Amino acid sequence: MTGQPTSPALRVEGLWKVFGPRADRILGPPEADLDRATLKERTGCVAAVRDVSFEVAPGEVFVVMGLSGSGKSTLVRCLTRLIDPTAGAITVDGQDVVAASEAELRDLRRHRVSMVFQHFGLLPHRQVLDNVGYGLEVRGMKKGERHERARQLVDLVGLAGYEHSYPDQLSGGMQQRVGLARALANDPSILIFDEPFSALDPLIRRDMQDEVARLQAELHTTAVFVTHDLNEALRLGDRILIMRDGAVAQIGTPAEIVARPADDHVRDFVSSVPRSHVLTLEYVMRPPTPTDSLEGPALAADLVVRQAARIALASAHPVRVIRDGELVGIVDDDAILRVVVAEETPSA
Ligand code: ADP
Ligand code: MG
Repeated sequence: MTGQPTSPALRVEGLWKVFGPRADRILGPPEADLDRATLKERTGCVAAVRDVSFEVAPGEVFVVMGLSGSGKSTLVRCLTRLIDPTAGAITVDGQDVVAASEAELRDLRRHRVSMVFQHFGLLPHRQVLDNVGYGLEVRGMKKGERHERARQLVDLVGLAGYEHSYPDQLSGGMQQRVGLARALANDPSILIFDEPFSALDPLIRRDMQDEVARLQAELHTTAVFVTHDLNEALRLGDRILIMRDGAVAQIGTPAEIVARPADDHVRDFVSSVPRSHVLTLEYVMRPPTPTDSLEGPALAADLVVRQAARIALASAHPVRVIRDGELVGIVDDDAILRVVVAEETPSA
């Protein structure tokens, strides 16, 4: 890892991408305030990304979620300038991507940021080992060393034994594991996933989500993960950016978004989420008072309600919620039951 522990791995500020004639005049009022459809009608331009800002911490999994057409792919393609942004700033590990030269961009894409797409993009006439080692070959790594490294990665993604298979001999899930191994081969500081599992069957998809979570726990790579699937977002994301019509609707942890949706659209969107799986104690606690019993179990503020429920309900005293060694709140049985019972009541 490079830089100070506190400096972000990725920083995006005021990013715009407008497709169409004379795109840069759209960035100010009144055009910038028009909704997408009206803008398109009046100017012929599409504002794919509208004034998006966020930071991703080293090791964080940052999910970008939104409906099809909301601007997710355009946003992540701007990060390595596969698409040139119309305006805004992008910094990767402190390097200014917008000002980067062609040579610097090549270095960025080969060594520091890897992408995994829905379409695996494997080379059909190459065996797994040579697909995984492709980026290393482009970099000029010698065959022996390259195969050694590729073999480790093939193991890492659970494909040992398939080193010499060709892509068309593998299932979709296995092909995407090859894509993942290839992306990891560069030892990137940021991995970008653009709906990598959307074409896979639901069960395989869950396997792959577990795989990403496992690899993440092991490697601590910073990841930007694009999906249109809320469950996938909640499973994988440390934080989630919800995009709508090119703009940020909300950025927050899964618990923040479910507990405090920024607007009615987000509220609707997350309404079917089982709250006890996502909400943490800090979202259901109340402030402590001098008369509270201090004999209840002590639980962490970021523990999800579902995991706290049994302990809380089994105790005669309310739960003490602790953050950084301090008592920050009290959760009594009612608070737990309000969350748990609400979701067990079947809705029509
Ligand atoms: P998502 O990945 O969320 O589905 P995209 O980033 O692909 O969304 O697209 C966002 C919007 O930008 C869409 O309205 C799309 O039609 C438009 N768009 C994407 N690429 C181009 C392009 N090259 N030219 C014009 N419009 C584009
Ligand atoms: Mg897309």
